[in-house]
Amino acid sequence: ETKKVAAPTKIVQLKAGQELRFENGFADSETVTLKLKAGHAEVFGSELATDPSYTFSGRKVAVYTWHGCSLELGGTPTVDYVADETPMQSYLNVHLALEQLRVAAEEKGEDGPKVMLVGPADVGKTSLAKILLNYAVKQGRKPIFVDIDPNEGSISLPGTLAATAIGRPIDMEEELSASSATTGTSPLTYYYGYPSPLDKPKLFGALVGRLASIVDRKMSESDVKTSGFIMNTPSQFVDVAGYDILTHAIDSFHVNAILVIGHERLYSELTRRYPPADSGISIVKLAKSGGVVTRDKIYRRRLQMHKIKEYFYGTPKGELSPYSSLVPFSDVAVRRVGEGTLAPSSALPLGSAPLLQETRLVKVDPGDILHHSILAVSHAALPDPGSAAAQLTPEEESNVVLATNVAGFVYVSDVDEDKKKMTVLAPNPGRLPRRYMLMAAMKWMET
Ligand code: ADP
Ligand code: MG
Repeated sequence: ETKKVAAPTKIVQLKAGQELRFENGFADSETVTLKLKAGHAEVFGSELATDPSYTFSGRKVAVYTWHGCSLELGGTPTVDYVADETPMQSYLNVHLALEQLRVAAEEKGEDGPKVMLVGPADVGKTSLAKILLNYAVKQGRKPIFVDIDPNEGSISLPGTLAATAIGRPIDMEEELSASSATTGTSPLTYYYGYPSPLDKPKLFGALVGRLASIVDRKMSESDVKTSGFIMNTPSQFVDVAGYDILTHAIDSFHVNAILVIGHERLYSELTRRYPPADSGISIVKLAKSGGVVTRDKIYRRRLQMHKIKEYFYGTPKGELSPYSSLVPFSDVAVRRVGEGTLAPSSALPLGSAPLLQETRLVKVDPGDILHHSILAVSHAALPDPGSAAAQLTPEEESNVVLATNVAGFVYVSDVDEDKKKMTVLAPNPGRLPRRYMLMAAMKWMET
């Protein structure tokens, strides 16, 4: 144990409608603590309890109060100030409107609202998603959180598209930690492997379609049906280049409410493409909060690395010890995502080549190329040698594996080309299952 110096604390009084905003770094010495002394307060819709001291690291946080409160802030944040102006009232109004739709859905036996959030980077999409989910939970609902922003991967790891039903308020310290060991649930996850949907738009579209059909099936379950879903989307959806995948996502998920944050042009484009009168889609324009912080490349990278580390090592609240094992090359079947080889273009109809390329998996010969890679472990089992399934063509194999969700992730910490073995870190003990493993652009360095 290192000796701890008592961190400075101060009392912050907030009046009704005010918000305390603070930021801090990732280092242990930069930890910030928060305690509610009196009144009510919430962090992105999750209410603070009066006793505990909440701990934050590497975060940008807003503590909002509807009726006023007294807070104790400990440690030295890099930034902290109180703001009077927030868009929280308009966010609450959206929640109330969604709640009316849920009540109506209950009466008619229909699905609850299918809500999509769109907007450029750093306007508060993810934060608003959390607020709306938490408010719904507070009303006894169990909405599905769908996150198709592979840059953040708020539900699982960066590079994924995922969905999970939210049955209790989102933990304000751990958020949706990717580690199922700490949250006790395992989200429905598909591996895309690239930060932007524009990196491999055809592959992205295929995975969106797949996730949509499973979420649709999930919506028929009684406990989530009338709650509907809240979907967070990548910032590239606001670019003209992203319109096609945006409309594909709206159509596949049968979205019926779109919240556009901080982007006039997209709002007008969407109302043109989906005239509310005949599309059945309500489109609402919302202001971004003045508190939202622009995150630079370095911070985003830090955040991604932090998420990956948490996946294997847990959080301060729930530490994990991952398992390291030596695996012979002959035991693994790694496929590369998104970079399938191009068929001779003369053999194909115009425009179909990229489709074939991106959604075709390529066999990877294990070796140094895997060093420092994060591999997604598919639920798709490897066929037994000699079985009919072992005779699949590469195209059939790609279709099966890409349509299957992933069970988890491993990290290749070392590769020994001479011994034809690699060292693999996994959150669970035991032999690696005989499953396909997917590799893409995601690398990690254990620090
Ligand atoms: P987006 O999803 O649109 O990129 P986020 O919701 O992730 O934006 O917000 C960007 C950053 O700003 C996040 O670190 C988030 O925690 C922070 N943030 C959001 N709203 C506020 C606020 N009102 N005050 C302080 N920080 C905020
Ligand atoms: Mg986001």
